[in-house]
Amino acid sequence: MLHPNPAGAAGPSTAAVHAGEARHKPGFSITDPIFATSTYTFRDTQSIVDFIEEKQTREEYGRYGNPNERTVEDKLAALEGGEEATLFASGMGALVGLLMAHLNAGDEIVFFDECYHRSREFCRKHLTRFGVGFQEVTSCDYEAMERAITPRTKFLVSESPTNPHLSVVDIERFADIGRRRGVLTLIDATLCTPYNLKPLEAGVDFVLHSATKYLGGHNDLLAGVVIGSHKLLEPVRHLRGIMGGVNSPHNAYLLERGLKTLALRMERHNANGLAVARFLESHPRVERVLYPGLESHPYHDIAARTMRGYGGLVTFFIKDADWRQTAAVIDAVTIPRIGPSLGGVESLIEQPMVMSYWNYSPAERATFRIADNMVRLACGIEDADDLVADLAQALG
Ligand SMILES: *Cc1c(COP(=O)(O)O)cnc(C)c1O
Repeated sequence: MLHPNPAGAAGPSTAAVHAGEARHKPGFSITDPIFATSTYTFRDTQSIVDFIEEKQTREEYGRYGNPNERTVEDKLAALEGGEEATLFASGMGALVGLLMAHLNAGDEIVFFDECYHRSREFCRKHLTRFGVGFQEVTSCDYEAMERAITPRTKFLVSESPTNPHLSVVDIERFADIGRRRGVLTLIDATLCTPYNLKPLEAGVDFVLHSATKYLGGHNDLLAGVVIGSHKLLEPVRHLRGIMGGVNSPHNAYLLERGLKTLALRMERHNANGLAVARFLESHPRVERVLYPGLESHPYHDIAARTMRGYGGLVTFFIKDADWRQTAAVIDAVTIPRIGPSLGGVESLIEQPMVMSYWNYSPAERATFRIADNMVRLACGIEDADDLVADLAQALG
């Protein structure tokens, strides 16, 4: 680490503002300067030799990392309570990098089936080309997950909460299966963020985030991160340097800037999600609402026991509506923009059947539990009253 973590053990807001950063920076600047450089120079030949023999901590060439990226990695590791973080150019870059670094031909991987469809597609279509076996089991069916484990199983993977169904995994139970059976565990915690839940504290080996979402928080960048122990991340960092999925110093700085307000933003996302979910649940044109903060949610008890808040994502179903009638509600909304993604300050709304599953058959959509009348609303940080009023007029 280039920088100490002065705020490593502090509260979530103090850590978000200060952790990972040097107290004294070049040019007496309070913010981190953006190192707009692709390569780093050496004073003389001896300093190259010293660097190679690890007598010196410094940068060498941009594909292996840059100072802005390292600062963000240290901040993210501190926020998540992990030893180390490795940043990638996107969430998918992080997932692919992590799995490629740890899996060999003949290994197997078990996923809960509500994981992001591109993550499962990578395993099903691509890892299998390299001789890695792939199995999916029903989300939160822990017995099925245990039964799927063979002597070749290397990884258990889940998200929590899942997207768009918002199932909440009992992280301790999930981590315990991995520990007992000698299998690595990975939680994609994009939807909860370290503000709402810290899976490493429950014993999970790796936490992954699409930093594109809440961590960046402003719908203006893509990034991904894996957090875990130094030992388990060393091969991941090494492979990243070969595959090249790094962040530019500019992008890493934008992420650092976004992270400063993570705790503040999450408080508002949590409050807006709950207010909107309560309103929708009481509306006669809404058939059902999925939000872990509602008492009606099948995983409310686990969520209430383990999470600080429930995030900004709310999934709901329009009563007696086909896909066109559902689309009409979405088109009538005036504050949330229509688009994929979540976790930014601007609210976003979409119909998963159209946005992500248009090219799938009705039978395939049924297996993914994607209904035609399903709406996914990613609450931003606007005023809850305005979001509720807007939804009321759109439903009317
Ligand atoms: C968006 C997302 C990803 C992929 O992240 P990118 O930054 O878009 O590559 C992975 N997992 C979850 C849960 C996501 O929401």
